[in-house]
Amino acid sequence: MSSSLTAIPSGPAARRASRRVLIAHGQRQIWVGGDAPVVVQSMTNTDTANAVETAIQIKELARAGSELVRLTVDRPEAAAAVPYIREQLDKMEVDVPLVGDFHYNGHTLLTDYPECAKALSKYRINPGNVGKGAKRDTQFAQMIEVAARYDKPVRIGVNWGSLDQALLARIMDENAGRAEPWPAQAVMYEALITSAIENAVRAEELGLGRDKIILSCKVSGVQDLIAVYRELARRCDYPLHLGLTEAGMGSKGIVASTAALSVLLQEGIGDTIRISLTPEPGGDRSREVVVGQEILQTMGLRKFTPMVIACPGCGRTTSTTFQELADNIQTFLREQMPEWKKIYPGVEGMNVAVMGCIVNGPGESKHANIGISLPGTGESPAAPVFVDGAKVATLRGERIVEEFQEIVLNYVKTNYSKPVAA
Ligand code: SF4
Repeated sequence: MSSSLTAIPSGPAARRASRRVLIAHGQRQIWVGGDAPVVVQSMTNTDTANAVETAIQIKELARAGSELVRLTVDRPEAAAAVPYIREQLDKMEVDVPLVGDFHYNGHTLLTDYPECAKALSKYRINPGNVGKGAKRDTQFAQMIEVAARYDKPVRIGVNWGSLDQALLARIMDENAGRAEPWPAQAVMYEALITSAIENAVRAEELGLGRDKIILSCKVSGVQDLIAVYRELARRCDYPLHLGLTEAGMGSKGIVASTAALSVLLQEGIGDTIRISLTPEPGGDRSREVVVGQEILQTMGLRKFTPMVIACPGCGRTTSTTFQELADNIQTFLREQMPEWKKIYPGVEGMNVAVMGCIVNGPGESKHANIGISLPGTGESPAAPVFVDGAKVATLRGERIVEEFQEIVLNYVKTNYSKPVAA
């Protein structure tokens, strides 16, 4: 081999330099931007006016790991419910900061319901839905003034489904005057970015601090999102909220979000993410939090919960025990995390391998903190267990799942317990 070879680099590009924005509630402080870790957030789909149902869903989202939770504030009943929702959460010791999502009447609601304005930790303002004509500027100013008065950060959240039509017309006119007009798609990109940046500058002129503004330009196409955010990141240093505006249902939504966000995150673009999955009827809203965490964790950007490495199984897999064990351990680990992260610091970095046969089973298991290689076709009915690379046990019989779970639990207690104070 030639000695001119150099080590192959690994990992994402350095994060884009951005300002840092603090989103706080009580003692809970979430930083977005700068060198802060990429923040996972989510949004409720309950009627905000139904305070009890909304508080319960926020609690579930926070328990799943959502670091900010947004809720729509769409009418007076919703605005009136917000302080009550906050109070209920505080009583349940759920200190996740709440973000109010405003469209059309945000200026009125934030002014008429000061307790709502105070209870929220951040406001999302869609500049395309603030008002039309002369009212637009005054209504936008009214919202920014409330934010400045209560020292709240704001996301200027542009969306191509509700783009400011006057601004779009202006950009189209400018384009028509070009010697070589841009294609319609480029004009749309330009309008999205211009709307975000111009409104951010306007908010600063109105008195909102430079460290109080986050931007987003959401679209629903993967290539569109990548193109828009690359350019947005090039033109400004505001922290960026990333996400497809309508990712879709099931695997399509997960794949589209992962494809788009991974490219941008790998380039160091993006300070907070939200995965806009459409839940199945009766589905779990917290799925969007889990997917967001898994994107960041599988990319090596953050650690949230111990990872289970499982092989896909094949014709060598003799039974469903292997799938059941992988599923059982994954669920068990995720369910423990809300408590474990308080008492076992660092456990989120643990890896557990669940493998289906001898082909890759022992090898993969030795790379993990704990691994089990279940017997494949023709192998004796025994499952060797490896801890930190060494074989420590061989499990057999009906209780393999329970016994392996016990080994995992012992490993966690032994390796991640907080040192006892002297
Ligand atoms: S480890 Fe064994 S069971 Fe799993 S995919 Fe590979 S060959 Fe198949």
